[in-house]
Amino acid sequence: MKVRVDLDVCVGHGRCYVLAPEVFGEDERGRCVLKFTDVPPDLEAKARRGEENCPEAAICIEDD
Ligand code: SF4
Repeated sequence: MKVRVDLDVCVGHGRCYVLAPEVFGEDERGRCVLKFTDVPPDLEAKARRGEENCPEAAICIEDD
């Protein structure tokens, strides 16, 4: 699984890194910073949780 974030769309709500801090972090403006682009299998559910809860649909997941 790969995860991407569109920083032109991310406005820094922070839901992703509150709900799944193992996968998502934040920059100094509160916007999403990915900790992985290739998500380890044991964190795939967390990555999906972040994607599903992003109000801006800024997170995109691609299954292998
Ligand atoms: S939840 Fe979405 S809009 Fe908010 S910080 Fe994460 S990627 Fe950005």
